[in-house]
Amino acid sequence: TEQTLILVKPDGVARGLIGEVLSRVERKGLTIAALKMETVSEELAGAHYAEHEGKAFYPSLIEFITSGPVVAAVLEGPRAIAAFRQLAGGTDPVEKALPGSIRADFALETQFNLVHGSDSPESAKREIALWFPEFAQ
Ligand code: ATP
Repeated sequence: TEQTLILVKPDGVARGLIGEVLSRVERKGLTIAALKMETVSEELAGAHYAEHEGKAFYPSLIEFITSGPVVAAVLEGPRAIAAFRQLAGGTDPVEKALPGSIRADFALETQFNLVHGSDSPESAKREIALWFPEFAQ
């Protein structure tokens, strides 16, 4: 089994899509092992998106992710990382996300793409430690 860290970003929470996202997660068969809602500090936002520091979209990404509450969860299951990324769809909701994915079904813009999911076992470990320090091994 594998673990992944997912977020319903501020746009998803504001648009009332927490249930939609968690419902798809549960119907897929993934287990929600930890779950919380919180407004992200600048410090956590910077640590979470450290790999994007210096990119043109970084300042607006930090502003966006700290703009309102997010829902963070640890999911567990076989191939959980890839399974959630399939549910989410590609980063650009119009050009990359496949029809039937969360981003394709509900989003229009790359920045406001509703959800995050860890992209590798290394990112998952790092992100779970950041978001759920009490939960990380
Ligand atoms: P996430 O890491 O949130 O799951 P991802 O792995 O699909 O998304 P990344 O390339 O890691 O995408 O980018 C992180 C986030 O930064 C994206 O989800 C999106 O919100 C934002 N982002 C990425 N590229 C752009 C861009 N060109 N313009 C605006 N925002 C962007």
